[in-house]
Amino acid sequence: MTTEETGTGVATATRESKPAPDFDAIGIGAGFAGLALIHYLRKEGLSIRVFDRAPDIGGTWSWNCYPGAATDSESYYYCLTFSKDLLQKWSWTKRYPGFEETQAYMRFVADECDMWPHIQLDTEIVKAEYLGELGYWRVTTDADETYTCRFLISGMGMISEPMIPKIEGLDRFEGPIFHSSRWPRGLDYAGKKIAVIGSGSTTVQLVPVLAEKAASVTVFQRTPNYILPAMQRPMTSEWEREIKENYDEIVEKCRNHAFGMAFDSPTGRTVADTPADEVQRVFEENWTGSFRWVFETFDDLLTNPEANRLASEFITRKMKEQVEDPEIADLVAPNVDDYPLFAKRPPLDHGYLSSLNRDNVTLVDIKEREPLQEITETGLRTTRKDYECDIIVLATGFKAYTGALEAFPIYGSNGQTLREKWERSSDSIMGVCVAGFPNLFIVTGPQAPFANLPTSIEQNVIWITRCLQKMQHEGYNVFKPRIEAEREWTAHTAEIHNQTLMAHGDEVNSWMMGANRDDKAPRVLIYFGGADAYYDKLDQSADEGFPELEFVKLNA
Ligand code: NAP
Repeated sequence: MTTEETGTGVATATRESKPAPDFDAIGIGAGFAGLALIHYLRKEGLSIRVFDRAPDIGGTWSWNCYPGAATDSESYYYCLTFSKDLLQKWSWTKRYPGFEETQAYMRFVADECDMWPHIQLDTEIVKAEYLGELGYWRVTTDADETYTCRFLISGMGMISEPMIPKIEGLDRFEGPIFHSSRWPRGLDYAGKKIAVIGSGSTTVQLVPVLAEKAASVTVFQRTPNYILPAMQRPMTSEWEREIKENYDEIVEKCRNHAFGMAFDSPTGRTVADTPADEVQRVFEENWTGSFRWVFETFDDLLTNPEANRLASEFITRKMKEQVEDPEIADLVAPNVDDYPLFAKRPPLDHGYLSSLNRDNVTLVDIKEREPLQEITETGLRTTRKDYECDIIVLATGFKAYTGALEAFPIYGSNGQTLREKWERSSDSIMGVCVAGFPNLFIVTGPQAPFANLPTSIEQNVIWITRCLQKMQHEGYNVFKPRIEAEREWTAHTAEIHNQTLMAHGDEVNSWMMGANRDDKAPRVLIYFGGADAYYDKLDQSADEGFPELEFVKLNA
């Protein structure tokens, strides 16, 4: 072990009385969270190693390498902000970067900040156990190696564990069949017949790109989505100059926005207080791409059913205008009576709707017209017919927020796993800590907000760092999340959730409520009180000395 790995921080407090752990902190996941952890913890003199099972850094953008994969946040604020120098040095090429560009950006950060010595790739963590008598965590890798640390920190991502549907015959298909987030790099799909199961954000990005080379693309759709336009555009030198001259303000805007985005909202306008023709004018004027449309038009779209309905009608009208066949247009656009906008997370369109006009793209209604029955050796069988294909893509979504933390056993202080703890309700303290799991931090865990992820990740990591600073300065080596604080946060999150239209998510299998999972009941997974309010709460908690945690001096 190197001196650097041993570290100098919290690890020194009780080193004489018991064996030193291998690291002060172990991070799991080398995406934005892993990089942020390395930056902030290393500055405190703490030793950290970040493990990732992938062969490269990038997290989501390492796994989601399907054709067309791109961010839905705009590039210039979908990044880490701890270094003004890096913000100035890096140049984005477009409004929404593809996965390659975002991954290249992360490599740039790792290179510039000399982070590689702290990263161990191709290493899956398969077990984590809290060792109560030592106040350490021990992790076991897929190579059966073990490492100990004082603090275990999950940076595994909130949308990373694939949801593989239980469809009869899944093992029977003789060609390539895989989840969208496990796209085989270099797969030659030119001239092939491709079936895509699912019609969420992934499919919406994937299909127009596949359709350019594939012989055919057939999309098997259950629930239609409200699809907003992305309106991709290149980064011009004037735009880049304007961004770089105003980066402080952009970073501040994200920190103070309800969804962590550099948006101009709240607008101070509501549909309820606006004449009908003016509502339509504002909707039209703001139809310029991205989720901006939802947040920069009116402030009551996600809380006022009537406002939401007008927005939903506007979107479905715009969607249908792009689809030539009226039957397909009716099929791809939701019926506004069925569910409100944002009960499911809307995809951004980079050409999906217009691709439905191509001769080689087919949309199949597996909800009502012809439910999917099974997968056969050569394709898919619905109640009406057989669809032969060469490749099947399961664009069936993720076990959001908790899936990665439940995929392998993480044992807390009483031997219970996180999976067991979250059987009925996925409780946490601000998405960062869980009662019964001392010295465990989660970056953007359940009951954290759904927001521009790099913003939330950095705010979480700042809170974690401040907590470790306190422990270091005051000689504590263990923190125990308080159950009362967890109950309070869980109740608060549920109360707010139920005031929003997102509470309808369980009616339409939304991953935002875990309602897409077949192994668990739907639940409240997201804090919708505003990311800005949530970041304020994190700051307040740190300012007040982390009242949600009990600090202990073990062996003192
Ligand atoms: P998703 O939105 O959860 O969509 C999954 C799709 O699979 C749905 O259409 C679902 O139908 C369908 N499905 C699931 N099980 C099925 C079954 N047994 N039979 C038939 N259909 C089934 O998943 P996603 O498209 O991968 O997107 C998930 C989230 O990842 C997004 O909302 C977004 O937050 C994130 N994402 C982000 C980006 C980006 O930022 N650029 C890109 C892609 C994804 P039902 O709706 O009827 O359940």
